[in-house]
Amino acid sequence: DDVLQPEAAGDDLAFEGALRPASLAEFVGQQKVRGQLELLLNAATLQNRAPDHILLAGPPGLGKTTLAMIVAHEGNRPLRMTSGPAIQHAGDLAAVLSSLVPGEVLFIDEIHRMARSAEEMLYLAMEDFRVDIMVGKGAGATSIPLELAPFTLVGATTRAGLLPNPLRDRFGFTAHLEFYETDELHRVLERAAALIGLAIGSDALTEIAGRSRGTPRIANRLLRRVRDYALVHGGAADHSAVRAALELYDVDEHGLDRLDRAVLSAIVERFGGGPVGLSTLAVTVGEEAETIEAVVEPFLVRTGLVTRSPRGRIATARAWTHLGLSPQAGPQP
Ligand code: ATP
Repeated sequence: DDVLQPEAAGDDLAFEGALRPASLAEFVGQQKVRGQLELLLNAATLQNRAPDHILLAGPPGLGKTTLAMIVAHEGNRPLRMTSGPAIQHAGDLAAVLSSLVPGEVLFIDEIHRMARSAEEMLYLAMEDFRVDIMVGKGAGATSIPLELAPFTLVGATTRAGLLPNPLRDRFGFTAHLEFYETDELHRVLERAAALIGLAIGSDALTEIAGRSRGTPRIANRLLRRVRDYALVHGGAADHSAVRAALELYDVDEHGLDRLDRAVLSAIVERFGGGPVGLSTLAVTVGEEAETIEAVVEPFLVRTGLVTRSPRGRIATARAWTHLGLSPQAGPQP
């Protein structure tokens, strides 16, 4: 039932490895970011130095890990991957940094979740390629400077706002990844279908793209469910197979799932279109307020089905239409 969650899950990992574009040229969409990265990487190559540190900011599943791999691949550089939650002490980071080879790309996913002490160590490492290792404790403690090989840090975060300014400022370039348009997702899917050897028509791909919440990871996952459906039913992966497969997984034509629709219906049918407060809404649909706020609401707001006001959430005219109701029935934002 979690086919629409943007985070990687289940068998995504093995599948994603096979589908990851290896070069900027193969990377679909994000035209602005691609152009910016291309310039940065080419300049570094011409000057024969490691590229500037890069921060990739944006929601899950939009290609941050993929871009980090591309940065390494395009420059023919080794890549080391770790994540914020794995760096709970400055020592964890010191161990990684001190073992980097010259020119290596260090990818830290979820960099906003790194320990504070490690963050401070990273400032110096990013700026001067140096760390100060503390030896001993208390009054007798001394710090020993350790030179590092020049490296490129690629940090990824879904919460750029949580990064302390001194860290954010040390990145030479910050890329903000945007949700993908339907035609871009269509291209992502076309490429993925070719790679997994699935014959599928363009209209079927458009249908999947429109239900993928602007997120390549979700698009690829839905494609897999459609492939399964065609396989099990022995038919073609065509438009009707897409509709049937995605109906089975409760994904409607705009990419709303059961919980999204429950929230929309609650605002419209129980509260006359709103405004309704988050906690009341959560109790009404029997879900945690945090889930509604972090998962459901951003998508409903982004697609223009819900707006937020100081007095609570309001369903827009589109929401009424989406539920097959007449918008005049309730208050309009
Ligand atoms: P998370 O923050 O959850 O780690 P992410 O932003 O790092 O997510 P990726 O793991 O890079 O996302 O991408 C998820 C999947 O989507 C991968 O299988 C990748 O192949 C595919 N993908 C992402 N962006 C693109 C793109 N622009 N073109 C083609 N495929 C893409």
